[in-house]
Amino acid sequence: MTRSLLLSNVRLADGQPVSVSIADGRIAALGAQVEAQPGGLVEDGGGALLLPGFVEGHTHIDKTNWGQSWYRNEVGPALTDRISNEREWRKTSGHDAATQSLALALARAFVQAGTTRLRTHVDIDTDARLRYLDGVFSTRQTLSDVLDMQIVAFPQSGMLIRPGTVELLGSALAAGADVLGALDPALIDGDPVASLNATFELAERYHKPIDIHLHEPGEVGAFTLKLLLDRVEAMGMQAQVVVSHAFCLGALPERERDALLERIAHLRVALLTSAPPSRPVPPLKLCRDKGITIFGGNDGIRDTWSPYGVPDMLERAMLIGMRYDLRRDDDIAIAFDCVSNAAAQGCGFSDYGLHVGARADLVLVDAQSVAQAVVSRPKRRLVLANGRIVARNGELVDAV
Ligand SMILES: [Zn+2]
Repeated sequence: MTRSLLLSNVRLADGQPVSVSIADGRIAALGAQVEAQPGGLVEDGGGALLLPGFVEGHTHIDKTNWGQSWYRNEVGPALTDRISNEREWRKTSGHDAATQSLALALARAFVQAGTTRLRTHVDIDTDARLRYLDGVFSTRQTLSDVLDMQIVAFPQSGMLIRPGTVELLGSALAAGADVLGALDPALIDGDPVASLNATFELAERYHKPIDIHLHEPGEVGAFTLKLLLDRVEAMGMQAQVVVSHAFCLGALPERERDALLERIAHLRVALLTSAPPSRPVPPLKLCRDKGITIFGGNDGIRDTWSPYGVPDMLERAMLIGMRYDLRRDDDIAIAFDCVSNAAAQGCGFSDYGLHVGARADLVLVDAQSVAQAVVSRPKRRLVLANGRIVARNGELVDAV
């Protein structure tokens, strides 16, 4: 039993003043009349806005260069240029997945900025084998009290085109990866039917959900997506598949797109977008209107793929708002939903949210509204993870 904590004098998004009682890492009570437990701690929230801990729905913490000297990017423009450049760089640079994933997850980064749940894709290939995965396992273990981390075993260099990768993915899942990743079955593996079959067979064998990177554009992407949906249906994997990026859904004729969206909704496949400014993106509000869970993530942060990115989900929410031209307060709240409730739902993080019984993952910010929090991205006044105060006034507390 840990001491109970009363977080008093905070406001919900609708302006309602409340206090939150926390016991054993959970929200025990939330409301206007909640009192402190005898002997419990009290923390005055100063009238700040109360938000649920943020959810990073898609990143790559094993490959970040965060906190290191500047990586000079002279990489070619094709996806395959970036893949082979990175593989070579990681082999020769001394880059360490354990140190780097911890740096990005913790210090001056995700946890400090209010992220309490995170899904990260970790490269599995025939050069590195499970080395990066072991590094991220170590970070997950170190931060298990404060960061709920899902690990996706991700064949970044392709699966069928690199014999031995399927077996390594199986070993990764057996070793504790939570989700099976995949990558462009047509344009990287060159055989979408065989590639998707191998992916779904692996998922079935290890009883794991799937999160596939699908960058394939237009009609190629639509073709792959149809094959994928066929397999979700045939294998009964409803609500267990995420399609990350799904650029094709931003560039198809309306009728074809809407037919795909209907099937995606029906099969409860979720979509992830990083809302990139330079690529077509799935239609956010239309997806939501059709009942599809669509959520947000940073994708890579400061790595050999891209020099951009900050491990702050309020910033990602702002970029989502800008990409989708969200201006009204209620629309910007949708952008925030993409990095909170929708992401928790899409990734399958349980016990999430601002309700009794949920894990006490809470963020306080000085903002009048969710929209203002997204736009101004104020320093986090307080971050609680699992019921513990982990950051105060934008700095990690010593105990973390
Ligand atoms: Zn990615």
